[in-house]
Amino acid sequence: MTSRQWAAITLVVLVIATAVVALLRVPWAAPPAPRADQLAALETLPADAVAKGREFRGALRPGMYLSMAVGLVAALLLGLTPAGSWIVEQVGRPFNGHWLARALLGGLAIVFIGEVVLLPLAAWRHIILKRYGLSTQDWGAWTVDVLKGYAVGAVIGAIVLVGFFTVTHFAPRWWWAWGAAGAAVLTVLLTFVFPVLVEPVFNKFTPMPEGEQRTRLMAMADRDGVPVRDVLIADASRRTRAVNAYVSGLGPTRRIVVYDTLLEKAPPAEVEAVVAHELGHAKDNDVLTGTLLGALGAAAAVCALYLLGSWSGLLRLARVDSIAEPRAVALLLAVAAVAGLFAGPAQAFVSRRVEARADRHALQLTGDPAQFEAMQGRLSLVNLGDPDPNPVEQFLFGSHPTAVERMAAARAFARGER
Ligand SMILES: [Zn+2]
Repeated sequence: MTSRQWAAITLVVLVIATAVVALLRVPWAAPPAPRADQLAALETLPADAVAKGREFRGALRPGMYLSMAVGLVAALLLGLTPAGSWIVEQVGRPFNGHWLARALLGGLAIVFIGEVVLLPLAAWRHIILKRYGLSTQDWGAWTVDVLKGYAVGAVIGAIVLVGFFTVTHFAPRWWWAWGAAGAAVLTVLLTFVFPVLVEPVFNKFTPMPEGEQRTRLMAMADRDGVPVRDVLIADASRRTRAVNAYVSGLGPTRRIVVYDTLLEKAPPAEVEAVVAHELGHAKDNDVLTGTLLGALGAAAAVCALYLLGSWSGLLRLARVDSIAEPRAVALLLAVAAVAGLFAGPAQAFVSRRVEARADRHALQLTGDPAQFEAMQGRLSLVNLGDPDPNPVEQFLFGSHPTAVERMAAARAFARGER
């Protein structure tokens, strides 16, 4: 059998494996709570605050769609014309066109151009966040964040670029196999190191101080049977007035993080409801599920790229000889941009199901649907969210059930329905 046939078989196996993991580990059978409950929940929120949230989301909308469009057009212009390969060549010139210089510096140049064209739109977003009082950053702090983001992106980008093109250079026929394995391993590795290496670049984390609240949260984790070494507080207030909490990491790097803004704005019982939700993620190993799906998906993507590489029309557009040469890096990014358009809604769909399960866990663990509903209402209002957004946008981008869906789930739980 040829390398191509092996790649095709591997791709099919990986797609099936991804589907199996998704079927087994994502809670599919969970219809949203009745619409009547959602509307009743919406009624309880102050109308002016709901209107302000809608206005804010409306103000962000044009920039958001424009960012998506500009990002896609830039990727296609660089990748599906000779422009991208020309830039890589020029950047590699001082190094006599050495493949490694083209791969690393040329690749980073293409990525950087893609980031810079989006910078004005990111600044526009920051202006709106300031106007609505959600951001606490001045332009200096905002710029530092942008630069830190570029630095982190450059480090991860360099690892991916050098890794990928080293493999294609030394294994021109079987690079897809090494690349697929490497992509999967890197995905798992990133999940482990992200909380320890990347998150501290942007925020300071301190263990929640000894006291009644910490004792209660640890007791709840204990009752839940989830081993939690610590609940960490992130100094999110230096960036935002929004409230949030999350779980990240795997195994020894797993942690529950609560924004300092949440502790400041929500009463202890609501903080408990938030942490109960996060414990649900920990108990169901949702980070592991996401990592497995990501690793299998990344490996499948490498195989698909290899197969796509025999599409000569595509190579002619980018004026490259092979999809595996460093001059084709813009073409690879263009393909990734198009794939991302479809992967985004699929990821959001999976995420909403997983989040709804964590909500059910929080309701069962606290046994206090009233607090849970109050917490969801507060989260939506403080974060200037639209509690009941347009269904199409929710389908495309919503990583969580809507606020009214989450509040309605609490009402259904209170009636003993779920
Ligand atoms: Zn969650």
